[in-house]
Amino acid sequence: METRHHDVIVLGAGVSGIYQIKRLADLGIDAIVLEADEDLGGTWYRNRYPGARFDSESYTYGYSFSKELLNEWHWKERFSSQPENLRYLNYVADKFDLRRHMRFDSRVESMTWHEDERRWHLELPHGESYTARFVVTGVGVLSVPTLPRYPGIDDFAGDSFHTYWWPKDPVPLRGRRVGVIGTGATGIQVIGDIAEKVDVLSVFQRRPNWTTPLNNSLISEQEMAEIRARYDEIFANCALSPGGFEHVPDRRGFWNLSKEQRIAFWDELYDKPGFAILAANFPEVFLDETANREMSEYVAGRIRGRVDDPRVAEKLIPRDHGFGMQRLPLETRYFEAYNRDNVHLVDLSATPIERITRSGIQTTAGHHDLDLIVYATGFDAITGAFDRMKIRGVDGRFLGDKWRDGPSTCLGIMTHGFPNLLMVAGPQSVSGSTNFPRAIEGGVDWVTGLLEHALECGHRRIEAQAEAEREWLEEVVRVQERLLLRRSKGWFTGYNANVDGHQQGQIRYQAYFGGAPRYKAFLEQEAADGYPRFDLS
Ligand code: NAP
Repeated sequence: METRHHDVIVLGAGVSGIYQIKRLADLGIDAIVLEADEDLGGTWYRNRYPGARFDSESYTYGYSFSKELLNEWHWKERFSSQPENLRYLNYVADKFDLRRHMRFDSRVESMTWHEDERRWHLELPHGESYTARFVVTGVGVLSVPTLPRYPGIDDFAGDSFHTYWWPKDPVPLRGRRVGVIGTGATGIQVIGDIAEKVDVLSVFQRRPNWTTPLNNSLISEQEMAEIRARYDEIFANCALSPGGFEHVPDRRGFWNLSKEQRIAFWDELYDKPGFAILAANFPEVFLDETANREMSEYVAGRIRGRVDDPRVAEKLIPRDHGFGMQRLPLETRYFEAYNRDNVHLVDLSATPIERITRSGIQTTAGHHDLDLIVYATGFDAITGAFDRMKIRGVDGRFLGDKWRDGPSTCLGIMTHGFPNLLMVAGPQSVSGSTNFPRAIEGGVDWVTGLLEHALECGHRRIEAQAEAEREWLEEVVRVQERLLLRRSKGWFTGYNANVDGHQQGQIRYQAYFGGAPRYKAFLEQEAADGYPRFDLS
């Protein structure tokens, strides 16, 4: 089969790949997108589970690059749901005629750098292959779902799905006995959504998560008109805030206020939409044990106030980590679900799962008969997609080996020994730690600038310097070590009990937690100085 060549190949037609190909197409660069799925959308193509929606304000999640697009699109809800989000991404792709650059059902299985040709060779199934001068990855930070390793998982006779692989056809819920394993952001969305639709809902919880209300609402025509008039200001605000949201941290000083004042403030934040309670809170909550304990106790009080059975309430309050130490899920009617007669909390810390059976789930306390099992058990986050692609760089070095104990990158964009491989939403960038589209727009623009520069100057090879990579890792470690989250057991720190090498106690520096403005300043300085951290030849 003939090998096809392009100057640039973009991997993934999700939020990042769509914008990346738009920029490259506008510049007239010979580029295509290879997408493993049968259509575009990435996260929003895959995660069709009930309750899936943004927890960034919709109008801060949309692309900012086109005034026309901003003026045309009406976000119907403050936190828009998956079907609408997928419609939006399709609308963008069609509006800018981007599909013609996309090749679907094109999963890259391996990629090898050929130094003599200064090219990447990409291998797909069935002998299909491509070569490219540059490869830009937009493979997502949460695109490799992971299942538990319980015995009998294939024996179950009913329906069972990881939330990522939720089917396109509607899954019947009424009259069914449903088990949900996992209480991260996904499980919390599913549980809140299906509690009243199913006959019986059994929630299998290993560790509870802190979670606070999403406070979603509809956006009227008039409010949308006001948002449109304010778009420049909205994006400017997002660019200034550490999390890439409109919410800004409260700098009055935790200790300068009385406890009553702090509680009054938290009462306000609890009722505000989205991540206000995280991003508009006092920074001390995330840096100082005592401040964090007080905040955690406040949120525990709210949980006790919402759950009728005190024994259930106590099981829903995390004890092993403080508020905001893991990625905060936002919820809708989550705690109220546990007040329903048809919803049961199964505490796996007391009665672990022994096996999946033909008819349900066996714990050490008994058997749960089920018709449907929902695995909301998370992802091999951030590096998982890279590990699975079998990427071989200079001298055949395997990227999975280089990153075995954790990723190491230069500015989250490139990694030494893997020339001409540019990562949008790469490990140790801010894409995993801040409002995703705001981060990737910056990443795409920067990568596009570097590619333009290289192509204009006739450079055929770009490689991150080893020393610059070491310095970036030091910066990544320094900012993470200041935060209380450094000790947490979540995907932010590379924890996943279902993936070898990612178990508890093996901290990986997966993302950059220095905030979006600081990260942007590093990137801008690098470009202004003529890319001193990179060897161009
Ligand atoms: P997650 O946060 O990693 O949660 C996975 C859950 O599954 C945890 O409760 C975990 O328990 C449990 N689990 C894993 N293996 C298990 C096992 N063998 N037995 C029992 N329980 C097991 O994954 P997620 O909920 O899919 O969320 C991942 C990220 O996706 C979020 O943090 C967020 O960034 C993103 N997300 C975003 C949205 C949104 O934007 N609205 C919605 C959903 C997800 P342990 O904690 O005990 O390991």
